[in-house]
Amino acid sequence: MNKIYNFSAGPAMLPKEVMIEAQNNFRFWNKFSYSMLEISHRNSNFIEMVEMTEHNLRKLLNIPNHYKVLFSQGGARGQFSVIPMNLVNKNDCTDYICSGYWSTAAAEEAKKYCLVKKINVINVHNRINLILPMNQWKINKNTSYIHYCPNETISGIAIHEEPKFTNKMVICDFSSCILSKSININNYSLIYASAQKNIGPSGITLIIIREDLIKQSNQLTPSILDYQTLLTYNSMFNTPPTFSWYLCGLVFKWLIKQGGIEKIEKINQKKAFLLYSIIDNSEFYINYVHPSNRSIMNVVFWLTDSSLESLFLKESNNFGLLFLKNHKILGGIRASIYNSMPIEGIEQLVKFMIYFEKRYG
Ligand SMILES: *Cc1c(COP(=O)(O)O)cnc(C)c1O
Repeated sequence: MNKIYNFSAGPAMLPKEVMIEAQNNFRFWNKFSYSMLEISHRNSNFIEMVEMTEHNLRKLLNIPNHYKVLFSQGGARGQFSVIPMNLVNKNDCTDYICSGYWSTAAAEEAKKYCLVKKINVINVHNRINLILPMNQWKINKNTSYIHYCPNETISGIAIHEEPKFTNKMVICDFSSCILSKSININNYSLIYASAQKNIGPSGITLIIIREDLIKQSNQLTPSILDYQTLLTYNSMFNTPPTFSWYLCGLVFKWLIKQGGIEKIEKINQKKAFLLYSIIDNSEFYINYVHPSNRSIMNVVFWLTDSSLESLFLKESNNFGLLFLKNHKILGGIRASIYNSMPIEGIEQLVKFMIYFEKRYG
């Protein structure tokens, strides 16, 4: 019998150790006589947990003091509207870098709140997707901010370059790559991420924002979405998703125990390398992303004989490799290999891919 590995893109698998700890604490949290799910967010033990969670996140990402950490709801899609609501006015210009589905969706939503210029940065050459280097992005002189997505979850296209735009706000949707590699927070004005890819279960949204950008937002912004209100109330203006927050905290603790982000990044690179090598060394599997823009979180590939795709998905599932089917807008195979995916899961997938090619290639 093979072990079961879950390649879901999100909500995605959580570390086994985290699940066990949550399970052990489910009815009676730590030494208390109640469950985490049954207490007030004003409870001092809960507040202590929340403070520890922020402390650990700050440590993991090396977040400078002049950046604030906020937790909100509504996912990354919520932030697509919340960001312009908080940071700009109707007649302000914004630049939205488009490199795939999510960055384009963010641009479309922002149009409700400000003037949006979409900037395509994908070049396709012989079917291979390559992202234009940042110094060739056609940024508008008068733009209020630059928005982009460093990891397009559906197409597996990543922008690995660190942003270096002087005097321009840089806002990034880190939903599917937060905590996967070291970044320099100082290069960003605002980073946001929904939890269910690489942090924890769905329900909570992380925002890391430079303190001076938190100001009175425009009058119509709902209070629960207003960064100033979130900050004033320590992300508890309304009742937060307490259990989701707790699990994120367990994941941060787990990451520290793994050796922190530098260690995790090395493992992530090794995991992705194993998969891309198999794809590159075979005529049977194919990937259309230039090596410099390949995601280390979402490995997307096709079978050159596409008629074998459904069989691949069926047999891989029987082999213990779950949810390898990509989003329907693109098709093909996608292995989402976030921090929680152990290297053994990759090895089992590689073993299956070799077997499948031998059998049907
Ligand atoms: C999943 C995802 C989203 C959408 O997240 P929701 O929590 O469903 O709003 C947005 N951007 C990226 C990059 C994603 O991977």
